Amino acid sequence: MPQRTLLQAFHWYTPGDGYLWKDIEDKAASWAEMGITDVWLPPIYKGAGGGYSVGYDVYDLFDLGEFDQKGGVATKYGDRAALERAVHALEAKGLGVIYDVVFNHKMGADETERVKVHRVNPDNREEIDPETFEATVHTRFTFPGRQGKHSKFIWDAKCFSGIDHIEDPDEDGVFKLVNDYDDGWNVEVDAEFGNFDYLMGSDIEFRNKAVYEELKYWGRWLLGELPSAGFRLDAVKHIPAWFFRDWIGHMRETAGKDLFVVAEYWLPDLEALGRYLDLVDRQLMLFDVALHYNFHDASKGGPDYDLRQVFDGTLVAAMPEHAVTLVANHDTQPLQSLEAPVEPWFKPLAYALILLREQGVPCVFLPDLYGARYTDKGGDGEDHDIDMPAIDCLPRLIEARQRFGNGPQTDLFDDANSIAFIRHGTAEAPGCVVVLTNAGETAKPVDLGPEMAGVAFRDFLGHRGDEVVLDEAGCASFPVNGGSVSVWVRADAA
Ligand code: CA
Repeated sequence: MPQRTLLQAFHWYTPGDGYLWKDIEDKAASWAEMGITDVWLPPIYKGAGGGYSVGYDVYDLFDLGEFDQKGGVATKYGDRAALERAVHALEAKGLGVIYDVVFNHKMGADETERVKVHRVNPDNREEIDPETFEATVHTRFTFPGRQGKHSKFIWDAKCFSGIDHIEDPDEDGVFKLVNDYDDGWNVEVDAEFGNFDYLMGSDIEFRNKAVYEELKYWGRWLLGELPSAGFRLDAVKHIPAWFFRDWIGHMRETAGKDLFVVAEYWLPDLEALGRYLDLVDRQLMLFDVALHYNFHDASKGGPDYDLRQVFDGTLVAAMPEHAVTLVANHDTQPLQSLEAPVEPWFKPLAYALILLREQGVPCVFLPDLYGARYTDKGGDGEDHDIDMPAIDCLPRLIEARQRFGNGPQTDLFDDANSIAFIRHGTAEAPGCVVVLTNAGETAKPVDLGPEMAGVAFRDFLGHRGDEVVLDEAGCASFPVNGGSVSVWVRADAA
C-alpha cells in the first residue's frame, strides 16, 4: 500500500473558464505515477460569484455546474460533465477524491426577507444588544435555476444565525437573527471574539433540525453521485463541533468505508486543537498550522533560525495520528487572507520534513509542483505580480516518500544550522538518510551500524553528485549543499 500523500489540486488563482477539471483529467495518470494517493478538489458547487468564484462563497451545494445560476452553468472549474470526467479519471488511476465541504455559511441569496435582528459587538460576540429591530436581510435561497432538482429544500432566515449586512436601516456589522433556537450563538465553536460562530455571509444555524437533516442528505447525495475517498472540512472553528461529530459517522456509515477526513481549524494552538479533537470524538485529522508557521519563520530566518526547533509546538509532534502536514495552501499563498509564505529556498527542506517523516499525512500544494504566476491587489491597495516558482525536486521527494520513507526513524537534531534524520527501512523496503542545512555546505556524521559496512549511498535528489561509502563500522559523513537538502539512499536501490 502506498503511503497516503495528498495533493491540493488548486490554488486561489487557478485559471477559470473550466481549465481545472480538464487539467485534472489530463494529469491524473502522472500524479498516480509520482506517488500521490489522494486529490483534494476545490469546492465543486456553485458559489455566489458564479464562474469567478473560488467556491468558498457557497451559493448552492447541489449545483455542480449543472444549472444556469449566478451567470452561467459551469463553475470556475468547468461544468458537471467535466467534473465527472475528472473524478472518474482520478478513480481509474487509483487516486482518492477528497471533497471540500463548506458548511459554515451561504452567500448570494435569491430574495430578501423582513426579520428581527439584534446588533452584536463584533469584538465580543457574546455582547448581543437585547433590543431587537426589523431589517431586510438577504437570507432566502430558492435556487430558481435548479427548480427543485436533487433537493426541494428552500433556505430562509430560520436557517441562519447571523448576517453582516442589513438594509432599511442600511448597516454593516454583525447581526444576530432572532430565531426559534436560542438568543445566543451556536456553542462548541472557537472562543475568539467571545464566540466565533459568525465568520461571514449568512451564517448557517445548525440547531435548526431541518438544516441539519438537509446537510446530512447532501452528503449522502454526493456519495451516491461521485466517487469519494473523503472530505476536507472548511472553517470548522466556526461550526459547532457536535455537528461534525454526527455528520462524519453518518457519512462513513453511508459510504460503508473509512473515509479520510481532514478539517481546517486554522489556529496554531495545540490546546484548542486538542479540545476540538475531543469534541469530535477524534474522528478526523487537522492541518498542522503551527508547523506551517514554523516553516514560514525558518524560511525568513535563514541561518538565524534554530532548525532543532522546527517541530516545536506542532500538531505532528504532539498528536501525530491527527496531523496533516503542509508547506502552503490557497489561504497562505502571497496576497491571500492568511498570507505567510514559505520562501522558495526553504521549500525543498520543508517538503523533505513532511514527505519523508514517519509522522503525519503530507499535503502537497499544486503551485509548488508546477509554479504559478498571478497579479492581485495587496494590503497596500497596489497591484503585485507574484511568481511562485515550481520546486524542481518536489516530484522526486514524493517518489522518495513511496520508495525510501520506510521503517523506524532516528533524529539527529544536534546542530542549530544542520539536522538529519534516518529512516532505517524494513525487511522489504529500503530507508534513507535525510540531511538539511540553512547555512553553508556541511556534512553530518551518521552511524548506521556495522551490518551496513561498505554500503554506498547516492543523493536521490541529485543535489550532490558524490557517493558516500560507509566504513567498516557503518559510519560516514553525509554532505549537503548550503541552504539545501539531500536524500541519501543506497546506490543499489536508487
Ligand atoms: Ca458559524
